Amino acid sequence: MSLQTIGAASAAAPTATPGALPAASPLSERPLVEVKVLSVKFVSRDTTVHAVNGVSFAMMPGEVLCIIGESGSGKSVTMRALIQLLPKRRAVVSGAMRVGDHDIRALSARQMSDVRGSTISMVFQEPMTALDPVYTIGDQIAETVVRHEGGSRKAAMARALELLQVVKVPSAERRLQAFPHELSGGLRQRAMIALALSCRPSLLLADEPTTALDATVQIQVLILLRKLQRDLGMGVIFVTHDIGVAAQIADKVAVMYAGRIVEYGDVRDVLMRPRHPYTLGMLASTVHGQPRDKDIEAIPGSPPDMRRLARGCSFAPRCRYAEQECICAVPVATEVTPGHPVACIKAGQTCRAQ
Ligand code: ADP
Ligand code: MG
Repeated sequence: MSLQTIGAASAAAPTATPGALPAASPLSERPLVEVKVLSVKFVSRDTTVHAVNGVSFAMMPGEVLCIIGESGSGKSVTMRALIQLLPKRRAVVSGAMRVGDHDIRALSARQMSDVRGSTISMVFQEPMTALDPVYTIGDQIAETVVRHEGGSRKAAMARALELLQVVKVPSAERRLQAFPHELSGGLRQRAMIALALSCRPSLLLADEPTTALDATVQIQVLILLRKLQRDLGMGVIFVTHDIGVAAQIADKVAVMYAGRIVEYGDVRDVLMRPRHPYTLGMLASTVHGQPRDKDIEAIPGSPPDMRRLARGCSFAPRCRYAEQECICAVPVATEVTPGHPVACIKAGQTCRAQ
């Protein structure tokens, strides 16, 4: 199987109807993902954690959206909400999410388990989250293929082999028989990506998939993901706290702080013409040579306590530009240039200050 056949379902061109208007240009296509005012809180007897607080974004098919932000800003919870992998009893979700034709919140558990792995797949920082230690790599991929698409076990095994070759696992035939613990970290990551791609998802959620790898392997896996994404026409939401990684892989960037998107736009706009003081701080910390695998430390103060979010801008206590107005209400995101919204009442001024 070639990359083209793997991607056939997701990359299929729209078919023309006789007499119909010309096919919509990519710019007017319907977004693959639409998230509207998503909020997630975790409620326990003693406390409520406000993990995601009104996140909205849209993403076109075949686009790579990077969500960046420091630890605890709600990146993983946003991804888990999209694929409905939040603890049912404790997570209180509101808002709307659509992926392809699926209204995610309206799906039953059973419908969601069909969507998971077929329309939406997820890769994690730690491959053992997705891989089962007691089955061989080949068995796990083949089982997923059979579960979602039927067919014989033999055909599914052949598909597993091709997938391992697509993700460039050397000696793929031998690796089919390997158990996850027998592979190196980089190969395990590739095996997990193969598993995630096995049912041709149109959306891949990648939650810090390269963070645990050393620098050279990290670059190889990023290059592989970018190539697969292009060849398969997949949309990817890629979570990272590493701006360098975002710069390499993203088309669009969403910067999250305290469970909100504070800046969003084209990768070049956000990374080269940042407007939110938090984005500016993050970029400054990278420029000043912070080790890339560490959390962002150059911004003074500590991350907000998600159990007690203040009324105003959550970044205000750490912001050098903050004024009285900033602590009164959460700033509404407004476009500083077309397609580049920033949730900061002083966005224009911080830009001039640079
Ligand atoms: P990150 O941006 O690092 O991925 P997360 O999305 O994992 O952050 O977490 C956002 C907030 O939600 C954090 O304060 C975290 O402690 C909290 N959180 C995440 N998962 C749970 C859970 N299952 N129960 C309670 N709190 C959680
Ligand atoms: Mg996370």
